[in-house]
Formats: sequence, C-alpha cells, structure tokens
Amino acid sequence: MRLRIQITGLVQGVGFRPFVFRLAEVIDLKGFVLNDTSGVLIEVEGEKHALNEFLVRIEKEKPVLSKIYSLQHAFLERAGYTDFVIRESSEGGEKRVPILPDIAICKECLRDITNPKNRRFLYPFTNCTNCGPRFTIITALPYDRKNTPMKDFRICPDCEKEYYLPSDRRFHAQPNACHSCGPWISLYDCEGTMIHEKEDALEKAVNLIRKGSIIAVKGIGGYHLICDATNNKSVETLRERKQREEKPLAVMFPDLDAVRNETLLSDLEERALESIEKPIVIVKKKGDTLLADALSPDNSTVGAFLPYTPLHCLILRKLKKPVIATSANITDEPIVKDEKDAFARLSNIADFILTHNREITRRCDDSVVRISAERQVPLRRSRGFVPLPIVIPFSFDKPCLALGPYMNNTIAVGIDNKVYLSQHIGDLDTLRAANFYEETIYDFLRLFDLKPGIVVADMHPGYFSTKFGELHFGARLVKVQHHYAHILSCMTENALPEDARVIGFAFDGTGYGPDKTIWGGEVLIASYRSFERVYHLSPYRLPGGDRAVMEPGRTGFSLLYELMGDSAENSGLISLSQEEKSFYLNMIKKEINSPLTSSMGRLFDGVSSIIGVRHAVSYHSQASVELEQLALRSDETGSYPVSLGKGIIGHGPMIEMIVNDLEADLPREAIAKKFHNTIVKIIVFTAELLRTETGIAHVALSGGVFQNSLIIEQAFYQLKERGFIPIIHQLVPPNDGGISLGQAVYSQFI
Ligand code: ZN
Ligand code: ZN
Ligand code: FE
Repeated sequence: MRLRIQITGLVQGVGFRPFVFRLAEVIDLKGFVLNDTSGVLIEVEGEKHALNEFLVRIEKEKPVLSKIYSLQHAFLERAGYTDFVIRESSEGGEKRVPILPDIAICKECLRDITNPKNRRFLYPFTNCTNCGPRFTIITALPYDRKNTPMKDFRICPDCEKEYYLPSDRRFHAQPNACHSCGPWISLYDCEGTMIHEKEDALEKAVNLIRKGSIIAVKGIGGYHLICDATNNKSVETLRERKQREEKPLAVMFPDLDAVRNETLLSDLEERALESIEKPIVIVKKKGDTLLADALSPDNSTVGAFLPYTPLHCLILRKLKKPVIATSANITDEPIVKDEKDAFARLSNIADFILTHNREITRRCDDSVVRISAERQVPLRRSRGFVPLPIVIPFSFDKPCLALGPYMNNTIAVGIDNKVYLSQHIGDLDTLRAANFYEETIYDFLRLFDLKPGIVVADMHPGYFSTKFGELHFGARLVKVQHHYAHILSCMTENALPEDARVIGFAFDGTGYGPDKTIWGGEVLIASYRSFERVYHLSPYRLPGGDRAVMEPGRTGFSLLYELMGDSAENSGLISLSQEEKSFYLNMIKKEINSPLTSSMGRLFDGVSSIIGVRHAVSYHSQASVELEQLALRSDETGSYPVSLGKGIIGHGPMIEMIVNDLEADLPREAIAKKFHNTIVKIIVFTAELLRTETGIAHVALSGGVFQNSLIIEQAFYQLKERGFIPIIHQLVPPNDGGISLGQAVYSQFI
C-alpha cells in the first residue's frame, strides 16, 4: 500500500530530502519526495508495517536543523512505484504562505522552562519559531507581532535581542516573551477576586487540584475544566456541576509513561499521542487503573492526551498525576475563550479560575483521533490541524465556500487544489453557536482573502446554515444531499481520480433526502458528478422527529411497532411507561410529527433501547456508544437475518430475532455483538451484489456510524479479504465534521 505524508515546517535546505531518501532505502520503500510551496510531500509504498515504521521514524530521526510544524498522513491505494526518487520541486499550486496551526511546545522550550538556571524557568508563555500559538492568536495577515494580541506587550531588550539575532531559536518568533515583558497568569476565586499571580498562582493552582478542586484553566484555544483524574469525588462533582453530563471526559497525562501505566497502546497510538498535533487519542484502558471510576463509567476506552502548552506542562509536571481536561463550555455551546465569559459562565462549575492576559483571538477545541483498522481516523479535526489544507486531486475553477451541516459543524473554503476546513464549530442549536458560526465564516473569508464564486449548502430547507447561505454572499448557491457529501469527502481525501466510481455506504444519523424523508442508511453508487441511491434501510417512523435523537425509546418503540403493529402498545418488550407507548403509537398511526426515516444511526439507538441499554440520552449517539461497549465484551460470532431486495435493506427479520433472543434470555452483550455483526454483514453482502452488477471494487465508508470501531474495523477487513478496495476517513472525520469537504468538492462538478 501507499502512504502519503504532507509536512509543513523548516524542511527545505536542511537535508530533509536526502534523509527521506536514505530512510526509504533502509526500510526498502519505493516512491518519491518533493519540495512544494509549503513544505515537503512524500509518497512511499511497501508493506503496511514498513510504512508504519517509516511514519514513526521520520519524526524521531529527522535532521537536527529541520523542524516539523505539521504532518498530515493517509494510507492510500498502491500507485505502483518501482524506485525511490527525489522529484523536481513542484512550481504549481498557490504561492500563499500557509497559516500554521498552533504548535505544541518544543523540546528546547520545555528544557528552558524546567531549568532553574534559565531566565524562562517556569514561564508559561515560552515559545520559539518552532513552537507556540499561531492560528489562535493571528488577528490579521501577515503573521506579525503587531497582528497578534502580543502587540499589547512591549518587548524587553533581552527578548528583542533574540528576536533580531538570526542564529537564535527565537529569531522572528512573533509571540516571543519572558517573565519581565510578556503575559502572566493569575488565579481567581469564583467571586472574581484575584488571589495569586505568576509563579504563586501556578503553585497554588496545582495544590488546589491536588486537594480536589476544579479549576478552569485558560489554554491556547479556550478554557479547560481541570481536576484530578484519580479523585473520584472531584470527577463526580464536575459531572454534577456540568448538569450531570455523561460524556466521556478527556484525560491529560504528565507524559507518555503515565499513559502507558493506565492504558494499552499500539505503536500508532503512541505516535499519535506524541505527534506534533497532540490530539486526544481514544485508547483502551487497562483493567486495573488509577483513573477514577466516574471518568467513563462502563466504557473500556479513555480519551488520552499529553500537555501541549508550557502552562499545561508546568501544571502536570508539578502535579505528577493525570488530570481531567475537558473543554469548558455549557452543554452544546462553543468553548469559552474570554475572561468575561469565564467568570459569567464557569463560576458555578469551577472552584477557581486560572487565567492569563494573552487574549485568544479565535477559539479552537482539542482534536480527537482514534486508531481504527491501523489508520488514524479523526473524530474531531481542530487544534493542531486547522487551518492546514486538504490537498485534493483537482483544482477549483472558482473559489468556493461550503457552509457545512447542522450538527458537528465545520465550514470550508476551497481555492486552487486545496480545501481549508475550519475548526470544530459544533451543533448550531444555540445562539452562541450560531454567532460563532457566522464569525468563523467571515473570519475564513478574510484570512484567505476570498470572495466566494460559489456557495454550497446542505439540501435541508430548515437548516440554519442553508438559510444563512440563502441570505448572504450574493454568489450562486448550490445544495448538495447530505450523504452524497459524506461519500464525496471520503473519495476526495483518498485521492480518487476524477473518473472514479465507488460503492458508498453512508451510514449516519440523519440527513435530508430529495424525497423529503430523512435519510441515513444509504448505499450509493457515486462519482464526483452524480449519485444513485441503490439501497437503503427500510423506512420506519420517528415519533417526535428530532426528539428521537435524545430519546432512543421513541425509535425502539417504532421498530417494535413495525414488527407487531398495534400490539406493541401492550407488549412488555420495552420498558417504557404505558403512557409513553400509547402516546408514540398514536403519533405513528396518525402520522403526527412522525417522519419516515431510513437512518442507520437511529437504528442503533432503537436496538439499544429494545435491549434495555437506554431510552433517553444526555448526548448525541450515547446509546450507540454504549451498545458498542456492550458488544466489545462479547465474542459472539453469529448474526441476524435481514432481507435484501428491490433496493431495500429490511431490518424486520433482525428485530424479530433480537426479540426472540431477549425472550430466550441471551445476554445483552451477545445480542449487541450479533447486531454489530449483522451491520457488517449487510455492508459486505450488499457490496458483493453491487460489484457483480457494476464491476466497482472501491467501497467508501462514511457517516457517523463509522466512528464505531467495531463496525469500521470489521467492515474494512472483511471487504479487503474479499478483494474490495475499502476507503475510510483519515484526514477529516467520518461524522458531520467532515461534510464541508464533500460540499466544497461538489461545487466543481455541477
Ligand atoms: Zn520552542
Ligand atoms: Zn522579555
Ligand atoms: Fe451525517
């Protein structure tokens, strides 16, 4: 197979290409390396394990003078290289200097702040040309100190000397600062009284965390809520105060060894944790762990990450314990980034607020990735990655703006052969989110100096984003079907050529279909130009429409109704109250606010409800996450029957057998596992049918359901075994966070 790596950084004129050449030779890989306008592009081919080794060693063994600011990688289909060559530099493409993401603290700066003899000992805003904030502090271009919040800090003679000395690591480091001239931290209580400053604030904050307090800490792209991850009471209090939120909470560990102590890590997971982007990596917890039970109850995984700013490093080094570090927000609202907001909105969650006076220009949440099928699948692409472009296999005629979906929103702009996705904006449910959305659109248009020639929106007439597109810009507005956009983004990031056709499985929560029903369990034959819906899940009703998202019991009941009709009302099969059952039955029968859907995501919810996992959830897809967790505990290999014909995937026979298994007291774990096996079987079997009909071997897997590691891994490996070429997401999320890429691409083929 082939590995494509796109690196930005100081990689030209420092012996980087010869280094890559030698490394490829040692590991015996074919392909090429070339300098382009923003760094180097590498493609290597060989066995998967050799490519993994190459990926790990390139960061570890790079030339001393080189610096990597970002590294995006994806495993692609073989291209058939026969040797390894250093190619001529590519002259084409845009000449613009890339705007860099925020870069995690470098080794040298870490040494400075931990060395008592260094003038930056314990200084939490230490940075150099190789590390520090970028995207979150740039107010305008060019990237210059006067165009950042650092303009408010008058540089001292020592720092200035470094800034103008070409041989210094801080030569032209725009946010360069020290104890005597730069920003500082302050610790406040919840009443807004400042209690400590500078080193005292750090010392005190660490002690408070150790004693069990919850502290809101201002980071690089917003505030985190931080508390001791080994203290069950603190974690419970945090959940309690966050309105009993049940989402899994991310844990920041002092160092890689500390992560190893509590979790089981593969090579690629270690690489992801240590990578320059420092994302949250979803990894498997050990059976006996120091981590608090309240952290992710009934969940065998944990979102782990390493400190990436000097401030986080200093806190974790002093504390010597893992901490919860979760985005500070009120449910479903954007992450808090300003002091005023922090005091107004976090003071009843946090006991103290550790803040600082370097302003955050734009918010940016932590990124989340998971290694599935030996690939790095992004679940949220934000800090560390944004605003790096996704290089696409063709060029835009006119620049476009993609407005994204409704949930998990990101927007994107497309210029030349690149698409720039925004940071995670989130669900557009709240006024604050809508404001952030609008801000981000204008922010991106300004940053990339763009007047869109074409604007792309989702087909859903009720979406805020769609309405927004209709009102603004004065450019041509086109609309694209949600699940087609999913498949397009998967095709694009896997560099499929313009004439490619795929069998696309868009297994998702919900999206508006051209037939005015809600789609979500779709099998498409797709090219960049058009798609045909060849199979879909047999439609069922969602009593209450969108309310079913947070109340899977509604879907569970509806699936039972499909099976047994009116008698579902009196069946003891689902532990809903009599009132609820009668209410839902009435809605379904009278078709009151009960749209038809073919959603696969909702099917997961419904099954979860039927087997008694959840009838109501506190965050999206909680029911399916818990269903997956159940399934992971079973080694059941059986599956359920489904019917396949006339373009319909019939789930009736499966629901019937699930009910039988429940009545026969089969453990829920086994039922959950059989259900997962069935979904994989549907994918493999349908793909076989369609390959026979069309001759297409490429199978694209996209949509929120493919965040499920069991489904994606099983589907991927089984398709591969049968000679298909499965393609999955590695650069943008399979969930709606990746939609804007597909939307942008769509604009060029209409
Ligand atoms: Zn540095
Ligand atoms: Zn200074
Ligand atoms: Fe979707």
